[in-house]
Amino acid sequence: MARYAGASCRQCRREGTKLFLKGTRCLTEKCAVERRGYPPGQHGQSGGARGRKASGYAKQLREKQKVKRIYGLTEKQFRNTFDRISREQGVKGTNLLVALETRLDNVVFRMGFAANRKQARQLVRHGHIEVNGGKVDIPSFHVKPGMEVRVTQASKELVPVKLALEFARAARP
Ligand code: SF4
Repeated sequence: MARYAGASCRQCRREGTKLFLKGTRCLTEKCAVERRGYPPGQHGQSGGARGRKASGYAKQLREKQKVKRIYGLTEKQFRNTFDRISREQGVKGTNLLVALETRLDNVVFRMGFAANRKQARQLVRHGHIEVNGGKVDIPSFHVKPGMEVRVTQASKELVPVKLALEFARAARP
């Protein structure tokens, strides 16, 4: 499935806020939003829409883009998720958030097995994750309450997994 392969920091700079797409780097002074807090591109510092009052549509668009970028989805994947939750009962915003949070790649990230969602997605795609004892390599897999998600026995010694777990442990209050 398609994915955005460009620079993550560029996406944060476009949104004008930290989206925490990289892990530990996001918490240091190396963060691109800290160092270059203006939009990317040739006209980032001077022209563009900076300073102009944003329309209601522009605000909604930027918020949608933020969510899409935080969860690492393409426009089509995001649209499909929204279409699916639109057919469900309940509040659309809440349903959308639940659908995004229960994606397997996000659960792997939240559990601390990966430093960021991109890495979590790679762990899933490369077959390092098991759900209820069986290998699942689909990042959009919908995790339901009661399911057991874990790193496969053979992958427990992977350096990125170990580093991510150490980081997650240290970041826990
Ligand atoms: Fe965004 Fe992290 Fe890059 Fe900062 S370091 S711009 S928060 S991805």
